[in-house]
Amino acid sequence: MAKTLIVGSVAFDAIETPQHKTEKIIGGAGTYICLAASYFTNPSIVAVVGGDFPKEYIEKLQRRGVHTEGVQIKPNEKTFFWSGKYFDNMNQRETLVTELNVLGNFDPILPDSYKDAEFVMLGNLSPQVQRRVIEQLPQKPKLVVLDTMDFWIDCALEELLKTLRMIDVIVINEEEARHLSGEYGLPQAARKIQTMGPRYVIIKKGSHGALLFGEGKVFSAPALLLEEVIDPTGAGDTFAGGFTGYLAQRNATDFETMKSAVIVGSAMASFTVEAMGTQAIENLSQEQISARVQEFRDITSFAI
Ligand code: AMP
Repeated sequence: MAKTLIVGSVAFDAIETPQHKTEKIIGGAGTYICLAASYFTNPSIVAVVGGDFPKEYIEKLQRRGVHTEGVQIKPNEKTFFWSGKYFDNMNQRETLVTELNVLGNFDPILPDSYKDAEFVMLGNLSPQVQRRVIEQLPQKPKLVVLDTMDFWIDCALEELLKTLRMIDVIVINEEEARHLSGEYGLPQAARKIQTMGPRYVIIKKGSHGALLFGEGKVFSAPALLLEEVIDPTGAGDTFAGGFTGYLAQRNATDFETMKSAVIVGSAMASFTVEAMGTQAIENLSQEQISARVQEFRDITSFAI
C-alpha cells in the first residue's frame, strides 16, 4: 500500500433536495475523498477548519486510519460553509451560499511526514492552492490526480493551465470537459485536455457512468441503476477518493488497474448518494464494497 496525500475542503454543508433538508452537517470535498480512500489506504489529509468544527469528526477520520496532522485549526475563525439545492431531477443543483471563511486564505502546509506521498489527490480548490501542495513535495509522486470545477475554468484559467502541466490524471464532469476544451465530442475534449498536461482524462457523466481516456485507449464504466438517490453531494469527490485509494492500495498506475479503479470509484460514489451527507460512507464493510463492485460486473458482463 503506497502513501497517499489528499488536499480538499473540510466543511459544513446545508443540503436541500426535493425530499429532504438538512441543517449544517459535515461535508467538504476533502472529507468525502478521505472517507472513500480510507477503505483502501491510510491517507493523509491537508485541510483547514475553524474553531467551530467538531473535534469528534476529526477523531472519526483518525479512527478510519486517516492521518490528520496536516489539518490546521484556526480557533478564532469559522469553517468553510456551502449550501446547495437540488432540482427535481437530482442531476442539477444551484449553490445557495458559499462562505469561504478559513478557506479564503488557506495555505496548505505539508507536515514532513506527508512529503514522501506517492499518490496525491488534489480536491477541488483554487489551482494556486493545488499547485502549492505539489511544489512542497521533494520528489515527483507516482501519480497526481486533480479535480476542478467551472468556477476555476472561468475565473482562474491561466493558473489552472499551469497546474494542469504538473498532474497526471484529471477527473472532470462532462460539461466541464466541454467548457475547458471548447470541444463538444467527449473523445475530442479528452484529447484536447491531454495536450494541456494530464496523460489520463476521466470524464464523469453523472448518473450515466464515466469514461477513462489514456495511452490511446478508452474505457467506459457503467452506472448502477439505483432505486433511490437521496443526496448526490460529494459523489464526484467520493469517486476520486475511491479511484486514488484503490490505485494506492495496488501501488499501480497502468491502464488496466486504472480501469478497475474507475469501477471502485463508481461503486464508492453509488453508496454516497444513498444517504444525506457523508453518512453512507462512514461505516462500510469490505463485503458491502465487494458486493457493489460485483453489481457493476453483473450489469456489464455478457457472452456472445
Ligand atoms: P461535489 O458534489 O462533488 O461537487 O462536492 C460537494 C462538496 O464540495 C461539498 O461538500 C462542499 O462543501 C464542497 N465545495 C463546494 N464548493 C466548494 C469550493 N468552492 N471549494 C471547496 N469545496 C467546495
